[in-house]
Amino acid sequence: MVLAQLGGSISRAIQQMSNATIIDEKVLNDCLNEITRALLQADVQFKLVRDMQTNIKKIVNLDHLAAGHNKRKIIQQAIFNELCKMLDPGNPPFTPKKGKPSVVMFVGLQGSGKTTTCTKYAYYHQKKGWKPALVCADTFRAGAFDQLKQNATKAKIPFYGSYTESDPVKIAVDGVDRFKKENCDLIIVDTSGRHKQEAALFEEMRQVSEATKPDLVIFVMDSSIGQAAFDQAQAFKQNVAVGAVIVTKMDGHAKGGGALSAVAATKSPIIFIGTGEHMDEFDLFEVKPFVSRLLG
Ligand code: GDP
Repeated sequence: MVLAQLGGSISRAIQQMSNATIIDEKVLNDCLNEITRALLQADVQFKLVRDMQTNIKKIVNLDHLAAGHNKRKIIQQAIFNELCKMLDPGNPPFTPKKGKPSVVMFVGLQGSGKTTTCTKYAYYHQKKGWKPALVCADTFRAGAFDQLKQNATKAKIPFYGSYTESDPVKIAVDGVDRFKKENCDLIIVDTSGRHKQEAALFEEMRQVSEATKPDLVIFVMDSSIGQAAFDQAQAFKQNVAVGAVIVTKMDGHAKGGGALSAVAATKSPIIFIGTGEHMDEFDLFEVKPFVSRLLG
């Protein structure tokens, strides 16, 4: 995964700074410029990178650090904290509780891996003793219901959808009602994803959201989306109350920086990452361990 290269470049920059005999303005600037270059190469949005640099410089005021302060440590800690902040804007999402019915709606562009991720999310919870269910409110893409049905059957997860009903709002409401009656505690609603941010898609998404009142809306994003991530994610956030992000295809060659932009645009944390096509190729995402690993 290319994110590992990003981590490598950042840790090298920190290492070079640490090896310097005296930590002065120039050494700090060289280190920050190196990190900036690495982040931009990984497709992180320019504004985010610039803000990070400014924040670190504000925290690490070399003139005001009295002798005896461990400047290296302070700089390392500031870099670590800023990377964590980029991945977690500090708005913890709604967390479903086992045994209490929650509705979770998935949104994203077509091809982002939304339908696959709905099943992965359901399967992940099922293994932990939850009673998940899947509702296919994607009436736009031919084959969407079949795909969800196939995945759900394989994972032995109850599902709901229709070959004849064309109103996604009706399907979503009927599905959610049915699974609430069946005491499912995690009702997952898959919505239509289209190629572009069409107004009609957003209108449909808004209606499904208003009708099913999801406890959590998850924005699914393909990690290879790169620089376009910020605008895409922001457009979704402006239309529905996105509360969390799942980044897919982290197993591919994506540079991964788009994930950071999606977090910034939605002000929502990444909660899981997809690492393959299979149902169990899905990992819980925790910021601090991730950044620690990234920095080696
Ligand atoms: P949707 O249009 O957003 O519902 O996307 P799909 O769920 O149909 O996924 C599109 C393609 O991406 C499918 O071929 C999936 O198998 C694949 N896919 C989804 N998640 C991942 C992932 O984490 N890694 C890889 N390698 N492929 C994935």
